[in-house]
Amino acid sequence: MDFSVDAQFQQKLDWMNAFVRDEVEAMDLLFPQGSEQFNVKNRKARTLAKRLQAKVKQQGLWACHLTPELGGKGYGQVKLALMNEILGRTSWGPVIFGCAAPDTGNAEILAMFGTAEQKARYLQPLLDGDIFSTYAMTEPQAGADPKEFTCRAWREGDEWVIEGEKWYASNFKNSSFVIAMVVTNPENPPHQRMSMFLIPSDTPGIVDVRDVAGMNDRVDNGHHAYLRFDRVRVPLDAMLGAPGEGFKLAQARLGGGRIHHAMRVVGQCQRALDMMLERAVSRRTQGRSLGDHQFVKGMIADSAMELEMYRLLVLKAAWTIDTQPHGAARINIAMSKVAMARVYHDIVRRAVHLHGALGTTHETPLAKMWMGIPMLSVADGPTEVHQVQIANMLLKDAVPVDRLFPSEHIPTRTADVEARYLSELEEIERELAIA
Ligand SMILES: Cc1cc2nc3c(=O)[nH]c(=O)nc-3n(C[C@H](O)[C@H](O)[C@H](O)COP(=O)(O)OP(=O)(O)OC[C@H]3O[C@@H](n4cnc5c(N)ncnc54)[C@H](O)[C@@H]3O)c2cc1C
Repeated sequence: MDFSVDAQFQQKLDWMNAFVRDEVEAMDLLFPQGSEQFNVKNRKARTLAKRLQAKVKQQGLWACHLTPELGGKGYGQVKLALMNEILGRTSWGPVIFGCAAPDTGNAEILAMFGTAEQKARYLQPLLDGDIFSTYAMTEPQAGADPKEFTCRAWREGDEWVIEGEKWYASNFKNSSFVIAMVVTNPENPPHQRMSMFLIPSDTPGIVDVRDVAGMNDRVDNGHHAYLRFDRVRVPLDAMLGAPGEGFKLAQARLGGGRIHHAMRVVGQCQRALDMMLERAVSRRTQGRSLGDHQFVKGMIADSAMELEMYRLLVLKAAWTIDTQPHGAARINIAMSKVAMARVYHDIVRRAVHLHGALGTTHETPLAKMWMGIPMLSVADGPTEVHQVQIANMLLKDAVPVDRLFPSEHIPTRTADVEARYLSELEEIERELAIA
């Protein structure tokens, strides 16, 4: 496996590194609210963001996750991993570089299944960073298991009528359209009951019951919508893909998103580790620097090792996507998703602790990181679901032992090899006796 990049791309990464630290981190400080990077009403922030986006475009680093047909660079996932690691340090990074979720996945679905009119109206502005979108799959009564979804649509003349509720539809209040997963074929097997619809956000009948605040948002500034579809009418071509293909499309869009989140968390962990190192050599206790105490050394060493293992896991997932047949990376992506929240939790916890009381305040980036951890372990499917998938993929190829003890049982194996080598050992014994 080769995770190295050529000198020319390294220059791009160096540019990104300086740009993110100098200019994108500035956006985090100037406009720090949880979802401000999506706030279409904040004209000051949008204007400044546009200027930074123009610099990114000039460097040819805009929306790099896109394939060349969609105007991307086709860099592949290893390069994307290295880029995301840099921009993941910040909240604004993904918007400034044109690769924020859920717009990335929505753009891919729209590109594959949208009509020419839908693409002109929504895809191009989305790719240009002029509008935002929402993905509505989770429902109030069910999330991790899409088979429990009940929001449904039926045909009336040349329209689909949608009725039901969706929950935690991030960023609806800033969106121009929603991609929603809705039951259209209840008679089909569970994974073929749903379809995807593209619905303009201002369609009559969509009710934003409330914008729920995550624990990392200000409580009066929620941006995850609880939506009600009250007999919402859309034309027949609002369906993306064929009837019953919703689950397939959802799987396709979530794979990329998961690994890109994981790549960004590498950058967050590195930032927390950097903070630990600075703190360890800056703060004194018992006549010595924090870093001279063994407990602190242990915390630093564990964090650095866990981060390196996690980084390599993510890079391996990226390399597998780039080089192996489609689907081969599934297990690596699931592992990265599970490891992401754990490693992040452990490193940020240590960083908070080393910063003492300061670490528990909103006066360092650690507060935002800490409150984002539960989000990461639940969003895009909870940890447990991915653990089950990992185990299932491994168990599928496991072979049961055909005798009483495990195949690694030492007495059984010893008896086997003794039987196999019996005559050879006897022969050696005879030869040795003669010699
Ligand atoms: C920050 C954030 C952003 C989100 N954005 C969106 C969005 O834009 N659009 C959208 O549609 N949804 C979004 N979601 C919702 C997210 O997809 C769901 O929360 C997730 O799929 C889990 O569904 P749930 O919350 O209903 O939990 P449930 O399905 O009720 O699961 C609850 C818990 O049960 C356990 N569990 C569930 N299934 C299993 C299993 N098979 N085996 C073992 N244990 C299990 C897990 O511990 C799980 O956390 C977002 C969530 C977060 C936190």
